[in-house]
Amino acid sequence: MTPTRREFLQRTGLAGLCLGTPGWLAACEGVARRSPNVVLIFTDDQGYADVGVYGAEGFTTPHLDGLAAQGMRFTDFYASEAVCSASRASLLTGCYAPRVSIRGALTPGAQVGLNPEEITIADLLRGVGYATGAFGKWHLGDAPQFLPLQQGFDQYLGLPYSNDMWPVDYDGTPATSGNKLRWPPLPLIEGNEVLEIVDELADQDQLTTRYTERALDFIDRNAESPFFLYLAHSMPHVPLGVSEKYRGHSEQGMYGDVIEEIDWSVGQVLAALDRNGLAEDTLVIFTSDNGPWLNFGNHAGSTGPLREGKGTAFEGGPRVPAIMRWPGRIPPAAVCERMASTLDVLPTLAAITGAALPPQPIDGVNILALLEGQPDANPRNVFWFYYAAELRGVREGKWKRVFEHRTRSYVGVEPGMDGLPGPYAQPTVPTALYDLENDIGETTDVSDLHPDVVRRLDEIAEVARATLGDRLTGREGAEVRAPGRKSLAGAGR
Ligand code: MG
Repeated sequence: MTPTRREFLQRTGLAGLCLGTPGWLAACEGVARRSPNVVLIFTDDQGYADVGVYGAEGFTTPHLDGLAAQGMRFTDFYASEAVCSASRASLLTGCYAPRVSIRGALTPGAQVGLNPEEITIADLLRGVGYATGAFGKWHLGDAPQFLPLQQGFDQYLGLPYSNDMWPVDYDGTPATSGNKLRWPPLPLIEGNEVLEIVDELADQDQLTTRYTERALDFIDRNAESPFFLYLAHSMPHVPLGVSEKYRGHSEQGMYGDVIEEIDWSVGQVLAALDRNGLAEDTLVIFTSDNGPWLNFGNHAGSTGPLREGKGTAFEGGPRVPAIMRWPGRIPPAAVCERMASTLDVLPTLAAITGAALPPQPIDGVNILALLEGQPDANPRNVFWFYYAAELRGVREGKWKRVFEHRTRSYVGVEPGMDGLPGPYAQPTVPTALYDLENDIGETTDVSDLHPDVVRRLDEIAEVARATLGDRLTGREGAEVRAPGRKSLAGAGR
């Protein structure tokens, strides 16, 4: 029988409170000396082309470009699913979202959240002696039982969900009033408590700065011990907010200003590592939770050559920029064209730190060989494109099979402007086979030319359906686990 989370942590000696046991503390430090700090910077709705080295236009990202020059840039890196909560569940657990039953973007007061029985990156790393801090957007359930302190983090400051969402007890200014948007008051949470209400759009202008300040403080306070810093910016998710430091700074306008401030934040974090003499001993990972929300027009980012954006299974949805730096282990100025995913972060960190993998099945693979630039390494050759528990496609190597489904689309509709959204189209797209190496924009179905490839990818899809289910074909997955359900004790929020 699979052990519970607590049994697993106790059995593997990872019971979190190791700092209380001198003998175990020594063991923690022994492991930690060989293990790097981990800084994981996760942005919200930043598009594939929204970093200088990925082709950004109208704004610059010198710190991210510098990070890529000192480390590795991934061309084919996937968030597991192109929507906030599902994507975050995967990053922190190494599991496709259907495996842990987190779907879409959880609303305030949601009855479900990330099951605290799941083992997160923070659980794993805390178990081997790391200090763990989360600053920024959480979005894996806003009931207290689902918040970061219950999921392996020692510290938390941030918004429990997206910056465009209403708390359950907010009695309702409509989202649009005339031609102006009204935005709701938001609970800024510290630990498990509401620290203050962010109730003016102007307050959102300070979010990037405030999260950054907490991240820097966390680095400074933990410079002597290994740490895991999860800095999950609310930006550039709408409504956009940027401080005076960067307002009006970019040619592109507000969206460019917001990205430039995120780049400033990256620079501040890197400077803090330098200041504490930690740069050589820290693995820095930068990526985004999903592609741009394109119907917000000039308040959305860019996918460059990719088809569609957020909320779709075409490449513009889940394919995101990803940069990793670890001096001495990751070669400088490297470009990785192999597939990799946020799913792979947890097992890779487990391999690096010697932490035990979770006892229940996960979907990520250890990509350390890719990070080390081993030319023949190919740990992830297959990716399953889930969205809202629908298996919408699978990829093997350069081939991507898309299955007929109804989708949000940004094609043929007029986007909004200056913070107002435009409509979606809702086409049904046909089953197709795309050659991503020669057709990165998924324009031409080549099914008829490659029947063997079609057969193989259809077999891969059957494995996915049997394992994690598929609403498109009415399949139940054999390995789907339950979400966390809100307890009575948590029902007050
Ligand atoms: Mg997002």
